[in-house]
This record gives sequence, C-alpha cells and structure tokens, in this order.
Amino acid sequence: MKAPSLLIVGAGGVGHVVAHKCAQLASQLGRISLASRTLSKCESIAESVKQRTDIDIATFELDADQVASTVRLLKELKPTLLINVALPYQDLVLMDACLEAGVHYLDTANYEPKEKALFEYHWQWAYQEKFQKAGLCALLGSGFDPGVTNVFTAWMLKHHFDEIHEIDIIDVNGGDHGQAFATNFNPEINIREVTAPCRHWEKDRFMETPPMSLKETFQCPEEVGTYQIYRMYHEELESLTKHFPTIRKAQFWMSFSENYLKHLEVLQNVGMTRIDPVEYEGNSIIPLQFLKAVLPDPGDLGQTTKGRTCIGVIARGIKDGKSKAFYTYNICDHEACFQEVGSQAISYTTGVPAMIGAKMILEGIWQKPGVWNMEQMDPDPFMADLNQYGLPWTCIEIDPHSPFKVTS
Ligand code: NDP
Repeated sequence: MKAPSLLIVGAGGVGHVVAHKCAQLASQLGRISLASRTLSKCESIAESVKQRTDIDIATFELDADQVASTVRLLKELKPTLLINVALPYQDLVLMDACLEAGVHYLDTANYEPKEKALFEYHWQWAYQEKFQKAGLCALLGSGFDPGVTNVFTAWMLKHHFDEIHEIDIIDVNGGDHGQAFATNFNPEINIREVTAPCRHWEKDRFMETPPMSLKETFQCPEEVGTYQIYRMYHEELESLTKHFPTIRKAQFWMSFSENYLKHLEVLQNVGMTRIDPVEYEGNSIIPLQFLKAVLPDPGDLGQTTKGRTCIGVIARGIKDGKSKAFYTYNICDHEACFQEVGSQAISYTTGVPAMIGAKMILEGIWQKPGVWNMEQMDPDPFMADLNQYGLPWTCIEIDPHSPFKVTS
C-alpha cells in the first residue's frame, strides 16, 4: 500500500497549527506539503515546524481559486488527502480539484459565496454522488465548532441517550489578547458570521431573529469564569438537525466582551462591515476586506493572549424513558497552545481536530466514499484522539430541568 501524504492548503492561523500537529505525527501521516497564496507565509510555517519537530515541509505558492493550478499541484505531489484551511470561498473549487485529481478532501468551514454571508451546506452536500462515484471521501467541518461540537453530540447520543431533543452549543473565549479590537480567526469571515441574522432551530424549522438580539449569562466549569453569551447562527445547527431529526430545538451561543461589541457596533454604523463594493478614488473596494487589512492578524495574537477557552455542548433528551441532560466540553489554555505550537487557542482548537480528522481518513477509520459531516461517523475513535492530541474533554450529567448554570 502506498504511504500516505498530505497537502495543506492555507497558510494562516489555522494552517500554522495543522502543519505543526501533522508534523508531530509525521511517522503516521506521512509526507506533508503546504500551499497558499503567499509563499513567504508557507515558508515561515515550514521554518517553525522544522525548529520544533525537525520535520521538513515542502512549500508551494498556489491560488486555489484556479482549479487547474490545484489539479496540477495535486498531480505532481500525489497526496492522499487535501486539508483545506484556506477560506470558505475556496471549498467548492478545492472539492472540484480533488475530484479531478483523485484525492480525499477535508475542511473546517462550510462554503459561502463571497457576495452574501450565507452559511449553508447544500452547495457541498450536492457533491455527494460525485465523491461516492469517485470512491473519495470528503469530510466537512473538521474544526472545533463545527467539528468537535458535532462529535460531542454524536458521542452523547451514542452513550447517554435514546433520543436527543435539545442542544445548546456554547463557545466561550475567556482569553484577552490585549488589543483594542481584534478577531481570533480571519476577521472577514468572523465579522460576516457575527453580523449575519441569527437563526436557531425550533419545531422543525429555522427561526430568524436580529443579530445578537438574545443574551444569556453562562458560568463555565473549572473556574473559567462567567460570561455574557449571545445567540447566533452557526453551521453545525443545519447538519445536526438534519442528521439527528429528534432534535426539536438547537441553539448556538458565543461569548463577546463589551469592548468587542462596542467596536463592532461603531464599525457597522459607519459602514466598515459592508461586503458590497464601494467606489473609492476610481477603485472598487469592499469595506470589510479593507478593514481586515488594517486589523491585527489573528495569527500574531498568540504571543499576547492569556486565559482559557471553554467550548461545549449541552444536550437534553431521554434515556430509558427518563429525562436526562449532559454537558460535554473542552477547556483550552491560550498560553499553553502558544508554548506548544506558537499559536493562540482559537487556531489550536481548530487545527487539532483538522489533524485528527485527517488521521481518521488516512487510517481508513472514517474513510468512506461520499460527502460527510462529522456526526455521521463513529465518534469513539475521534473522542479518544482528542484526549491524546491536546484537546481533553469532560462529560458531566446535569439537571435536565435546570440547565447547567445557564441563567437569563
Ligand atoms: P487566515 O485568514 O489566517 O488564513 C487563511 C489562509 O488562506 C491565508 O494564508 C490566505 O492567504 C489563504 N488563502 C486565501 N485565499 C486563498 C486562495 N485563493 N488560494 C490559496 N490560499 C488562499 O484564516 P484562519 O486560519 O483564521 O482560518 C482558516 C479557515 O478555518 C477558515 O475557513 C475559517 O472559517 C476556518 N475556521 C474554522 C473554525 C472551526 O472551529 N470550525 C474556527 C476558526 C476558523 P494569504 O495569507 O495570502 O491571505
């Protein structure tokens, strides 16, 4: 059997972590290559990987929007799997390239068109038959949320419930980067996500409410702290409610500081978060893309970020006719991540599951032809690897009638 090998596309904050974590397992995952739009960013990641692990990574300049260029590179390198940690805009073109070159595919965020912040899976689910016919596997959303949150839900269903009826996914970042305003991952994608209308699943359909219009207080376990969390739309709500149809209510919550919200409100009010083109001195510019250019690079926040993240899923349902509720979560320390791989915890909590998803495919454990969301696979081997490779988790039973410290 041919030795496995990987091509990582995207040399940003997440790409940095994926490259380091894959290099730590190079004896199992095989040869690693890294391609991105800016070659110097690939080279600086490769240099850091060499210093930390003594593994060599080959680097390439690639515009992934050009399918022919990606196909050429794939045919030259012949990787077993392409890990897409570029931007969601590149999902479909990279899936097309994988089909043409006969390479398995993995990403961490669902496709969205540049001109509209519409996070929906139907574009990628439409590739199901093509991947099945080609005998290739496409694993969608192998980050933390989506990703680990889907696996947490599948694992709780497998081990603790007959049916899950409600889920609350709660993403708290208790870290402080010391900047006036910065986002923890790609600013353009982050701001599109948080300014989009909120959708949550209730009684067999998605209900829309204005962005950030519902707020709760959440007390994290293990003294991470108490945070204001805001309900917003997140893509795993779509796949989880499709694949687990007993779910009647599904909501996603994220913590934001007063400071973040204050800056975001001003930026929105002055038009800087617009994604439609604006004419400026004869040039057409998109305000949000310009804003990204002047904001701190999330990849550079690792050095100054302190504190912990706490991301988990509360599930409520029934087991043997009785109401039950469980909370499964991971807590991750920004400074420990920086010490290990030179990144803050948001990039780390996304990059580690991408590496584990890749390992699941390369080892054949999750390798089946077609297009899959994480909850469609057996959660057990992935949960075991989370404990082993840097994202240990805890599951606790909570009172089903009085949700775990979630108070209005
Ligand atoms: P960054 O902006 O830091 O990195 C993206 C990288 O992709 C950059 O290096 C960029 O190149 C490169 N890129 C962009 N367009 C192209 C192209 N056409 N061809 C080749 N390379 C390209 O983003 P992050 O690392 O923060 O995020 C990466 C992905 O991870 C995003 O899709 C994001 O949504 C996802 N994510 C998922 C999470 C989860 O939990 N599931 C959480 C956080 C992020 P250049 O350097 O030249 O700009």
